[in-house]
Amino acid sequence: MYISDIVSNMPEYVFSEFQKKKKDLEEKGIDVIDLGIGAPDLPTPDFVYDTLVEAAKEPANHRYSNYNGTLEFREAVADFYEKHYGVELDPETEVLTLVGSKEGLVHLIQALINQGDKVLLPNPGYPVYKMGVHLAGGESVELPLVQENGYVPNYDQLSDEDLEDAKLLFLNYPSNPTAATVELDTFHEAVKFARDKKIIAVNDSAYNLVTFDDYKAPSILQVHGAKDVAIELGSLSKSFNMTGWRIGFMVGNKDVIKAVATLKSNIDTSQFIPIQKAAAVALRSDFQSVRTNNQVFQNRMEKLYHALNEIGLKCEKPRGTIFIWAQVPEGFTSSSYSNLLLEEAGIIVTPGTAFGSNGEGYVRMSLSVTESRLDEVIQRLKRLGKLSAK
Ligand SMILES: *Cc1c(COP(=O)(O)O)cnc(C)c1O
Repeated sequence: MYISDIVSNMPEYVFSEFQKKKKDLEEKGIDVIDLGIGAPDLPTPDFVYDTLVEAAKEPANHRYSNYNGTLEFREAVADFYEKHYGVELDPETEVLTLVGSKEGLVHLIQALINQGDKVLLPNPGYPVYKMGVHLAGGESVELPLVQENGYVPNYDQLSDEDLEDAKLLFLNYPSNPTAATVELDTFHEAVKFARDKKIIAVNDSAYNLVTFDDYKAPSILQVHGAKDVAIELGSLSKSFNMTGWRIGFMVGNKDVIKAVATLKSNIDTSQFIPIQKAAAVALRSDFQSVRTNNQVFQNRMEKLYHALNEIGLKCEKPRGTIFIWAQVPEGFTSSSYSNLLLEEAGIIVTPGTAFGSNGEGYVRMSLSVTESRLDEVIQRLKRLGKLSAK
């Protein structure tokens, strides 16, 4: 049996490892609380799946979609950008349907770089970017993101060598895993940098609609002239609790969109039409379901945030995402503290180092469990705190 070098040199998707550990513990009868989950636990809104069910009964919807997605969905995305961000998009050339944004990220890299080209990535960052670069035979150059600087890139840290043959810059705000959020000026800088260095700037906006209170996450396309050098990926996974549906979109520079659409037309032939119809209805909705979800996540966040501070685990209060990014106590590493929580408290968290070397000293806690489970987490953490203080 032969397996390609590229796949045999690829580590298993980081999060599948934690799922294995969880299963082992549960088989031993331990009540494990999983704060490692990177997906919402809430259901997809009724009006969305009702649309899917009706559309699925229609034989005309059983055929292949247009290879770049249905015009109906692309128009819904364009209208959403106009209404939500004041950004005009041509649904024919500046919008592409994705089978979830994860494939879009990976295909985007394959469509734009040649072997040996460099891609600038956030560290810590969503692991898919780095694997995508590996799959395309490219070279990752990591942009260190640090708390003191609000987890935004400092482009001055890049050397001329880092920038030679650099083709792409990845950003992700609101961010997984740090929960960092930004104002439009961060995107102004990114667009300017991309223009100066003749690269494409990409914002992964998977959490743009998952925000708290009055904070509204900006789009990189709101920067004047951004479409010359920028791309944004969006997803219904987190905002409408549709992770399993696999539906997202790519918007921005039309030459990039065309290149990715050409690649994808040879691979996936787009998403099932009824799923695109249901997602179009979601994007055209009044977003009441999104606000309701966000309130659920915010309540959980407030509860955990206050408890962590009381216990002495330092963290910043997020303005969005479904995560809290907390500093581990003194004397621990990300990995030793995650192991302690797992073994002594039955709590799974994700060590910050799963997202890159700059994640050292932190753990990511997901807000994808109920408030009553979070109460249990808090009790266990308090008990653990007393134990280790002895
Ligand atoms: C969840 C997530 C995605 C992937 O979302 P899908 O649309 O479900 O593929 C992309 N980027 C980040 C940062 C995420 O956390």
